[in-house]
Parts: sequence; C-alpha cells; structure tokens
Amino acid sequence: MKNKSLKVFSLIFAVVLSSVFFVGCSIKTELKKVSKNLTNYKIDAVFNSEDMSIDANMTAKVVNKTDVALENLCFNLYGRAFREEASVKPYTSINEGKCFPNGVNYGDLKVLKVSNNGTQKQVTYVGDDSNALQVPLNERLEPGDKTSIEMEFKLTLAESIHRLGYFEGSVNLGNWFPILAMYEKGEFNITPYYSTGDPFYSDIANFDVNFTYPEEYVLASTGNILSNSQGRAVIKSQATRDFAMTLTKCANINSKKVGETTVTYVGYQEDENIDYCLDVAAKAVGYFSKTFGTYPYESLTVVKAPFLHGGMEYPEIVLISDSITDGFDVAKVIVHEIAHQWWYAVVGNNQISEAWLDESLAEYSSILFFEAHSEFDVSYEELVSEAFAGYLLYADIISTVNGKIQTSMLLSVNEYFSEYEYSYMIYVRGVLMFDSLRQVVGANKLKTALKKYYDKYKFKFSTTDSFIASMRKSTGKDIEGFLDGWLSGSTVVGAM
Ligand SMILES: [Zn+2]
Repeated sequence: MKNKSLKVFSLIFAVVLSSVFFVGCSIKTELKKVSKNLTNYKIDAVFNSEDMSIDANMTAKVVNKTDVALENLCFNLYGRAFREEASVKPYTSINEGKCFPNGVNYGDLKVLKVSNNGTQKQVTYVGDDSNALQVPLNERLEPGDKTSIEMEFKLTLAESIHRLGYFEGSVNLGNWFPILAMYEKGEFNITPYYSTGDPFYSDIANFDVNFTYPEEYVLASTGNILSNSQGRAVIKSQATRDFAMTLTKCANINSKKVGETTVTYVGYQEDENIDYCLDVAAKAVGYFSKTFGTYPYESLTVVKAPFLHGGMEYPEIVLISDSITDGFDVAKVIVHEIAHQWWYAVVGNNQISEAWLDESLAEYSSILFFEAHSEFDVSYEELVSEAFAGYLLYADIISTVNGKIQTSMLLSVNEYFSEYEYSYMIYVRGVLMFDSLRQVVGANKLKTALKKYYDKYKFKFSTTDSFIASMRKSTGKDIEGFLDGWLSGSTVVGAM
C-alpha cells in the first residue's frame, strides 16, 4: 500500500515536474526564436534629476523587413511633441490644464548627432510637425539586410502627467527614444503625436538598455532588469514593440508569479490596496493566458503613476492613473491595460488608422474577465447593458445637437471629432459589436476564434481585413457583412 501509493505519487510528481520543466522552457525558447533577425536597439541613457532630462547614445542595428530597397530610414521622435513650437499637441486644449497641474511648460527631444555605419549625417527633421528624423543611408539597404544607425540625443521632460513627463515623485518614460517608423505603401509612417488615442505604430524589436538614474527612485521597465544597483540598471527585452520605463519615489511594491511570469505592482508608499491591485493583475494575466494564449514574456509590471488618462499600455509595463481610487474602477483599468498585452503588444496593429483592433478587443476582453470572476460582483450582462445605455444616451444627445451622428469605427484617431466620439465609437460601440458577434457565433466559439487569431498573429500585425478573415474561418460563419456593418457605422444600435 505504501509503496504503491508512493509509486503513484512519484509518477504524478514526475509528470508534474516534467510539465513544469517543459512550460518553464517554453517562453524563453519562443522568445529566442522570435527575437532572431529583428532590429536591435542598444541605448545607454543617463537621467539627470537637476534638469529632468536624459542624455543618451543609441545604436540601432536596423533590419530591413520591407520588400523594397531603402535609401533612407525614418525614426519617430515623439518627445518633440512636447516642445513649445509643436503645432500638433499630444493633448486636447480641454485637457491642457489637467496635463500640466503646475502650469503649462515644455519638453523636447533633440537629436545631437546621427551617423550610418560611422559616417556622420546631417540631422534632418521631417514630418508635418518636424516630428521625425530622416537618415540618408550610405548605400541602399536591400530587403533582409542590416545597417547601423548611431545617434546621440537629449530628451528634456516637461513637468506633466502625460505618458512622457514628471510630476511629484514619479517620472513616466513612454515613447522616450527615437523609434524606427513603419514603412508601408512606399513611405514611412511619421504621423504626428495626436492627442486622441494611442497614436503609435511600431514593429517588434530587441532592446539592450543601460540606464543610470538617481537612487531614490524605484525603476520599472519593459523587459528583464538583469542587474540593478546603485542607480545603474542593465535591462534586456526581446521581441517587444516598444520599450518604456517609469521611476517612482517612495514606492510600495509587491510581486507574484503567474506561470513563468513575474507580475509586479508598483504603488505609492501610503497605499493600502497593493495586494488587491496585484491580485487583479495576476488574475488578468492568468485568465487571458488561459483564454487567448500564453503571455509570452517573463515580466509584467503595473505601475501607479500620475497620468492624464485612466491607464496606458506598453509591452510588459502598464500605467494606472493615481486619480482612480474606487476599487472596481482600479480593477477595470488594470484588466483593460493588461488585455492590451494580447491586443497591441503581442498581436500588433496600426493604432493610428485601426484603433478598434486593439482598443475594442481590450475593452471586450475585460468584460469577459469579469464574467469569469464572480468575486467582482458584476455580471457580463450588467457591463454590456451599461455600454448599451451609455451608447444610446450619447447617440441621442449628439443626434439632437448635430442632427446626425458619426458612427464609423474605422476612422484614423485624428479624424474623430472629439475624444468623446472616439471613445464611444472605439470602446463602447466596440463592446456592443463583440457582444452582438457572440450572440451570432456563440460564446465558446468566439473565445476559440480569438485564441486562433492570437496564435496566428502573435508577434505580427493584424488588420481589419485579416481579423474578419480569421473570424470567418474560425467560426465557419459568413460574418463579413455583419462586422462590416458595425465597423463602417451602417449598423444602427438600438434599431436591431
Ligand atoms: Zn486601451
């Protein structure tokens, strides 16, 4: 009896151990494979707290992933949107006061030197708002070939609660370095930093970042912090679409492991909800991994920060605004931002021209999360009804005031008349569209279809067309016209 039970126990133990070992290797193995032949950014950056600026040297080993030979490369310089002369501001005039709690002030991103394989080039700003850098190459870069761009740049931060800025004991470093622009249809995508949506679009790449910063801050970042002592951190990330960091004074931190991923919450010292926030984040990583496919990185950090909007997603790190204090509202933002790890960070899309692809999906995914977690005491039906009622009220007010209403989900972020219109079409109408799709195809089939979609497009880009094709194939239903009606705006909500 004893021996037998021991044998069974040993067998179970061996199976569990081997599966743990197998799973334990899977993320690293996959990332190693995916990270081959990607553009690599090596950045040495020093943060100066006297003038809240960063001095940096960057070497980008760029791989031409397009199918044409390139004579130039372009880098988006989002930090330049914060300079005084910028004509396209990264905030609406209504939000200006909120963005700068201590009064309007400015930042900048200046490229001081640039060279290609050691040959110095003139610094040439391009784009409608001088918001990008164009680098002429020494020789044409053929598809699949590599070249090196070396840069020296200085980033000056505004005192602001935007994605990039500092306020009180926090520093937000989102979109802080020159990042290679996407090349499509014969040109680089160098649209300015619009105030609406998340106007960013970049390919997966590898990052090696050495960051020096004042020791009184706690650092959080994309990727794995390989070493970090006396204010010097060595950070590495593989196959991520962007690289963001935050600094927090007087932080209160807690972590827990979900599968192979360490989930960390960085709050403020006085906070009493650290464990609650960490628990929500860990549950979200677990649920989305199970529902859509494994989270492919070893780290995910949720950082409480002064922030203009509710939250913001970057690969492996998300910001949650410190202005959100209600327990369930905090949970909603954490879950939404973490859902973006699946829809934006891993499955990429053009967030400027097709914002619905990541936003609508992230918002609907968070409703699926609450449906599966009864402890939050809110049902799927309640959340969808809330969206429905909100949409009808919005439509009623706008139709009354304007005599008509714009209901397309396919406009570029800058084409929406207001942040309200953007939010109601991309988030609220998006939720109603997915709920309606679920009614057509069934709840389980929809989840399975999203899982297949994730698997097919992970580390790649999706488009509206590829999403529709994927859904049609997975569900076996001809849903093209159905989705087109919702996306183009022709489907009238409330009239069905
Ligand atoms: Zn979002």
